[in-house]
Amino acid sequence: MIRTGEQYRESVRDGRRIWINGEEVADVTVHPAFKPLVDIRARIYDMAHDPATAAVMTYADPDTGELNAVQQKPPTSRADWEAKRAATDAVLTDVGGVVTRVGDETIGEVWSLIDGQDVLDAINPAFSENVKRHIERACFEDPFHVSANTDPKGDRSKRPQDQDPDMLLHVVRETDRGIVVRGAKYETAAAYSNQAFTKPTIANWGDSELSDYALGFMLDMGAPGLRYICRTGFAGRAPAEDYPLANRFDEVDTLVVFDDVEIPWENVLFYRNTEAATFIRATLHRYSAYAFTQRNLRLADLMIGAALWNVKQTGLERQQAVQEKLAALACYREGINAHLTAAIAHAEPSPGGLLMPNQSLLYSGRVLACSQLHEMMHIARELCGGQICITPDKASFEHPETAPWLEKFYSINEHWVAEDRRKLLAYARDLLNSDYAGHRLTFQLFAQSPPFAHLSAVYRSFDWDGPLDLVKDAAGLSDRVLGSLGRTK
Ligand SMILES: Cc1cc2nc3c(=O)[nH]c(=O)nc-3n(C[C@H](O)[C@H](O)[C@H](O)COP(=O)(O)OP(=O)(O)OC[C@H]3O[C@@H](n4cnc5c(N)ncnc54)[C@H](O)[C@@H]3O)c2cc1C
Repeated sequence: MIRTGEQYRESVRDGRRIWINGEEVADVTVHPAFKPLVDIRARIYDMAHDPATAAVMTYADPDTGELNAVQQKPPTSRADWEAKRAATDAVLTDVGGVVTRVGDETIGEVWSLIDGQDVLDAINPAFSENVKRHIERACFEDPFHVSANTDPKGDRSKRPQDQDPDMLLHVVRETDRGIVVRGAKYETAAAYSNQAFTKPTIANWGDSELSDYALGFMLDMGAPGLRYICRTGFAGRAPAEDYPLANRFDEVDTLVVFDDVEIPWENVLFYRNTEAATFIRATLHRYSAYAFTQRNLRLADLMIGAALWNVKQTGLERQQAVQEKLAALACYREGINAHLTAAIAHAEPSPGGLLMPNQSLLYSGRVLACSQLHEMMHIARELCGGQICITPDKASFEHPETAPWLEKFYSINEHWVAEDRRKLLAYARDLLNSDYAGHRLTFQLFAQSPPFAHLSAVYRSFDWDGPLDLVKDAAGLSDRVLGSLGRTK
C-alpha cells in the first residue's frame, strides 16, 4: 500500500502533545518549525503517486499486485538495493537537499528483526507473532517509521537502579493490556512520525539475564502519556534567502518523554531479556547504515559543487593547490561511492533470508564517511574563502543606500553578477558554516550511534582470519599458533 501526503498529514494530527521554544504546538503539520519537513515527508509519499517519479518509488507486490514503496521492501536481491539507492537519490534530488530521518534510513532496523526472529523465538517465543506482524506492517502499510535508542542516561558511572531510575527507559508495571514504561528517548523527527522501534541504548548488562531496562517495542507516536519536547528549530529564525538550507531541511530532534505510557502486549517485541537486547543492538544497523552513509555521498557532492562554483567564480580553479584540495574532496566522495557500490556487489545472505550489504565494506564505509566529514567540510570551507562568513545579508543587497556598493563589490565578470554571488555564498555558508551546518555535522557523527560504536561494528564484521593466515604463512609460523585462535587449520 502507498499512502498519500495528505493521508500522512492527517495521521499525525492525533492530539499528540508537542512543545518547542516554550510553546505548545497545536498542529505539527502547519507550525513553522515543522512544516518544511512535514511537507518534504508528504512530498515523498506523493512521489509514489506522481507519474514522473512513481516508477522509481514503487514496486508491485508479486502476490497481490498492490503497489508498495521501494524504500520499505525487505531486500532480497541486488536489484532491490539498486532500486533503494535510486529511490533515495530521487528523493534527495526532488527536495533539493539532504534529509536523513525520513523513513528509508530507519526502516532497515525493522528488517534486522527478521534476522533476529529465530534468536528471539529461542529466548521467548511469546512475542514471535508480534515481531512478524510488525515487520509486515512496517513493510506494507507505509508508516513513517523512526528510531528510538538513546536515553538521557544520567551518570554513566552508576547503575540505573542507583540513580533516578527514569534516566533509562524501563518498565514500571504490567497490566492486562500490556506493559507500562517510563523514561525518555532522544529521537529525530519523532514529533511528526507514526511509529518508532524503541529499544535499549548501548548497554553493559553485566551478568544480569533479566532487566526492567531490556525491552523492545513498537511505539505508536499517538500513545497517551507521551510528551514531545523539541529543541529550537532552525526554520524561520533568519530569512530563507540568507539561510536556504536551515529554513528547508531542519529535522527537528525531540526529547520524547514517556510518562507512564502503556504499550499493548501486541506491540511488545522483547521484554526484560538482556540477551535479546544485546542481539538486537549488535545487528541494528546491518541494513540501515546503507541509507545513512548514502547521505554523506550527497553531502560530499554538495560540498564539491559549492567549492567548485566558488573557485570558478573567483578564477582560482587553475591553481594547482586548489586542484589538489578539490581532488581530496573527490577522493572522499568516491571512497564513499566505492564502499556503497562494493557493499552491494558483494552483498551477503542474512540469517533471515534477506540480502544484506557486505557488512565489513558497509561499516568501514560508514566510518570513512562520518569520521572524515569534518575535514572535508573544512577543505570545502577553505576553498569557498572567508567571504562565506562575512557577506552581508540579502536585505543589505536591496537597501537603496547599500545596494550599489554591494552590486559593485560582488559583481565579478560578465558571467557572475552580484545576486548569483550572494546566493552561492549564502548557500555555502548554510552548508558549511552556519549553526545549521554544525548541527548537520553532529547529526552524522552521532545519529546512528557514536563513533566508537561505528568502529566496534567494523571490528565485529571484518574477517581477521585473512591477515592472520597470510602472516602465519609468510613468517613460517607453526600450526601450534592456531590454537591461540581456537582453531587447528
Ligand atoms: C543530531 C542528533 C540526532 C539524534 N537522533 C537520534 C535518534 O533519532 N534516535 C536515537 O535513538 N538517538 C538519536 N541521537 C542520539 C545519539 O544516538 C547519541 O547522541 C549517541 O548514541 C551518543 O550518546 P550520548 O549523546 O548520550 O553520548 P555519551 O554516551 O555521553 O557519549 C559521549 C562520548 O563519550 C564517549 N563514550 C561514551 N561511552 C563510551 C564507551 N562505552 N566506549 C567508548 N567511548 C565512550 C564517546 O566519545 C562518546 O561519543 C541523536 C543525536 C544527535 C546529536
